[in-house]
Amino acid sequence: MKAEKKPKKIKKLKSINLGLWLSFSLFALLIIFLLTLVNYFAIGDVFTGQIRSRLVYIGGEIISAVEHSRPEEDNILDSIVNEFEESENVIIYLISEQGEVIVPFDRRQENVEEIVENLEHRLKGVDINDNLLFNSNGYMNYASRINYGQKCYLLISYKLTLINSTVKTYQEHIFFISIIILLIAFIISYSIAQKLSTPLKSISATAVQMAKGNYDVNFVSAEYQEIAQLSDTLNYTKEEIKKSEIFQKELLANVSHDLKTPLTMIKAYASMIKEISGNNPEKREQHLNVIIDETDRLTGLVNDVLNVSKISSDIDTVNKKVFNLTDYLYGVLNKFDYLRETQGYTFMVDIDADLYTCADEEKIGQAIYNLISNAVNYTGEDKTVYVSLKSDPIAGRIKFSVRDTGEGISKEELSEIWDRYYRSKESHSRPVKGTGLGLHIVKTVLTKHSFEFGVDSKKGYGSTFWIDFPDISAKIDIIDN
Ligand code: ADP
Repeated sequence: MKAEKKPKKIKKLKSINLGLWLSFSLFALLIIFLLTLVNYFAIGDVFTGQIRSRLVYIGGEIISAVEHSRPEEDNILDSIVNEFEESENVIIYLISEQGEVIVPFDRRQENVEEIVENLEHRLKGVDINDNLLFNSNGYMNYASRINYGQKCYLLISYKLTLINSTVKTYQEHIFFISIIILLIAFIISYSIAQKLSTPLKSISATAVQMAKGNYDVNFVSAEYQEIAQLSDTLNYTKEEIKKSEIFQKELLANVSHDLKTPLTMIKAYASMIKEISGNNPEKREQHLNVIIDETDRLTGLVNDVLNVSKISSDIDTVNKKVFNLTDYLYGVLNKFDYLRETQGYTFMVDIDADLYTCADEEKIGQAIYNLISNAVNYTGEDKTVYVSLKSDPIAGRIKFSVRDTGEGISKEELSEIWDRYYRSKESHSRPVKGTGLGLHIVKTVLTKHSFEFGVDSKKGYGSTFWIDFPDISAKIDIIDN
């Protein structure tokens, strides 16, 4: 026995687990990177901007307080300044040009002259009550020249290290958020990967079982639609392969059995003619008739098998042409003459003359033959089959129907009979050997033509199979005239 061929190993592929985890981690890292960028470049600026507007606001408030109070009422201004210092984390000075701290009262500054000099220098060209914002020595400063009984300088300073520590706190938060994002990414990717890979692994293992010839396996469904669809498709494929295997075995068994019986008969009757009836013309005639009948059966059987394989192999191509359906139907019915003559079948026909249609003549012929042959196989004791071909000129259709008087088809079976290899479990009289492919071929041929077809049947009341053809007889008449 040949060693089993293993599937070729292709390049090493990433597992879904790893792939998903890598993608999620990269995505998480990208988010972290963006957060860090925002943190470094935007958060600092946002804070600085906020402080600037706060300083301008406080400056404005103090200037307006200065405008509305008199120097004799220093204490009002002093309390306003103290309040701002406490609530806004700022240091405020109102210094006279001579270097005296006017407000706050209790504050003495050693290097006041230096500050005044610096402010004088910076505020050169800046109008009274206008302001200037500048950074120096780790502070953000607001400076303005104002009149408060004398020329003064207003200086409001905010310590920048306060911003830095806030930004640092944000950075720490972002670091922890990053770790949490990475962890969540890992957990999500792992659980999605598990949900994807587990059913796929199981499907793959089941497929291996199926490849080994075990068709009793079942492809499990999954949470995700696409995998569930894959499972369904594989289950359907499995059923089809299983049916096909059973069909092949049955067909082989049927065909070999049906070939053997007539062959045995032919041999037996030939021997009888040789040894016994050779000189008795009456008996010889009888025995020769059996041999001829059996040969006919053999020919019929071989033709059936050949037709099935031919139709199955080129079922996809439809060569449409215009032909006389009436004549063609009579031609098909002639094939059943031998049943009428030898087995007492009756064909009641109601066929309109000269009806033309456009279709693949050979394939439609096979479909009609299959339907009539089924009616013959399944009709009742009266061995009668009703065939009709009627035109409906208004609708432009031709209705073909074949009715038998048999057992009929149960509701449950009606939807299944068109399936490939479907054969009723019940036994029936069968002058023509069936393969379980007949109605499947009818369905395939008519679907390819887009012709409507169907069956009306009720258990115990026989069955009527019908096909709806396009009627082009009128056009043919016009051409003929
Ligand atoms: P086969 O006749 O070889 O079994 P078909 O595909 O032609 O295969 O038909 C499939 C099944 O449909 C049959 O086995 C039978 O059960 C049912 N069937 C088809 N035609 C008829 C009919 N005229 N009356 C009752 N049952 C029918």
